[in-house]
Parts: sequence; C-alpha cells; structure tokens
Amino acid sequence: MEQLLKGKTAIITGASSGIGKSTAILLAKNGANIVVADIDEKQGKTVVEKLKSHEGEAIFVKVDTSSAEEVSQMVKTTMDEFGRLDIAVNNAGVGGESALIEEYSVESWDETIAINLSGVFYGMKYQIPAMLENGDGVIINMASILGQVGFASSCAYVAAKHGIVGLTKNGALEYAKQGIRVNAIGPGFIKTPLLEDNLDEEQMEQITALHPQGRLGKPDEISELVLWLASEKSSFVNGAYLPADGGYLAQ
Ligand code: NAD
Repeated sequence: MEQLLKGKTAIITGASSGIGKSTAILLAKNGANIVVADIDEKQGKTVVEKLKSHEGEAIFVKVDTSSAEEVSQMVKTTMDEFGRLDIAVNNAGVGGESALIEEYSVESWDETIAINLSGVFYGMKYQIPAMLENGDGVIINMASILGQVGFASSCAYVAAKHGIVGLTKNGALEYAKQGIRVNAIGPGFIKTPLLEDNLDEEQMEQITALHPQGRLGKPDEISELVLWLASEKSSFVNGAYLPADGGYLAQ
C-alpha cells in the first residue's frame, strides 16, 4: 500500500474514540507518527497499543481541550518527542445539553463552547508556531453539518461548529503564504459513541431519515477525507468546508 504520510507527525485530539480513533488508525497505516490526545486516558492508551503494529510511533497525551495550558503542553510534548508537527486534527468534541435556548443552562453553554470551539482555537494557536518551524503544515478542524445549518435544541453545539468554520477560513488566509493549509470537515450524523450515548432508538431512526442516502455515516467515511486533506493530494485545497454527509446539506 502507498503510504501517503511517511515520516510525518500528526496530533489528533479526541482520538480515544469514534472518528478520532478511526483517523489515528488510518494515518498510522499511512506511515505517520501519531499523538493520541484525549481526556480519556484509558481508551487512549488502548488506541496507542493498537497503533504499535504500524511503522510510525504512537504516544498518548492527556489533554482537556478547554484548557489553553493543556493544549499548549500537548504541542510542546509532541515537539519534544518527535521534533516536528506536520498535521493537526482538531477533532475533540461533546454534544452538549439538549434544550431550547431559553432553557439551555449557562453551564452547558460554557462547557460546550470551551471544549468544541475554544479548544480548536487553542489548538491552532499553539500548532501554527510549531508548523512555521517546518515551513509547512496541515490543520483539519472537525466541524459538522451543524456548522452550516441549525438543529433544534443544540444551540451551543451549532454555534461552536459555525465558529469552527469561521476560524478555519481565518487560519487559511492568515497562513497560506507560509505553507500552512487549514480546512474543515462537516460530517453528517456518524455512528459513534457521541451519537449512540445521547440518542434513543426512535431518535436514531428520525436522524437516519434526514440523510438522503438513508443511513448514518461510518467513522471510516470521515477518516478517509482527513487522510486526503492531510496529504499532498489536496495541495490546493485551503480554507474549505467539506461536507461528508450522505446528501444532508443538499436538501
Ligand atoms: P466520540 O464521543 O466517539 O469521540 C469524542 C472524543 O473526544 C472522545 O474520545 C472523548 O473522550 C474526547 N473528548 C471529549 N471531551 C474532551 C475534552 N474536553 N478534551 C479532550 N478530549 C475530549 O465522538 P465522535 O462522534 O467521534 O466525534 C468526534 C468529532 O466529530 C466531534 O468534534 C464531533 O462534534 C464531530 N462530529 C460528530 C458527528 C457524529 O454524528 N458522530 C457528526 C458531526 C461532527
């Protein structure tokens, strides 16, 4: 198999589960060293064990993306361990409360914005200087279809994901001349613990029906897009929002 990322080093936040885990495995198969960065240490270390069969190295770094200090330390550990940072996938996220705006708690708003949006800003803030040392780099931010349209009872999540799309555009235009590309992915609903832990069977069926392809997505269908964006195959794609949503946004 052609290895698209041989010798590269990638940080993936939220890599202990779901889309992040699938991405860690695919990028490792493609030759990259992987930093599995997550708040869940137990699952994260299991992912690192899985990656050991691949050529690149893998380490776990415990991080809470809502802490600027911890995100800064995550990048520092990566540089100490591997000496360079080529790829960053800012993917960690939570669903937040399910409530209308008037009933939405300030605590859940603050937490969801801190993890999902500030976490991506802190990521970019500390990843970019490390990439400037290389003279190039790729940042991939995990937005959502809900970075383009609303979804009732999910105001903090929707606001955070729209914010990620804006941050992505700014990152692209501020650093394009210095060789850094920044793009965002907009998954439709994907079968991961984020969904399975928050929705009952009836809600799952309703959400499935919103996708013209008539099914939910699979984590691998998102990690393949991450791989393409991380590789030279997408060398002229910058500041883009790329949906992978079974047609959800086409309606
Ligand atoms: P998941 O719950 O399977 O994985 C999320 C990971 O993030 C977990 O490993 C969790 O421990 C980690 N995490 C949570 N809070 C954290 C924090 N404060 N600091 C560090 N790590 C933290 O979910 P997933 O579905 O794989 O979601 C990954 C990303 O994809 C999220 O940003 C999510 O919003 C986005 N997304 C998911 C879907 C979907 O339907 N599953 C759709 C669109 C976008």
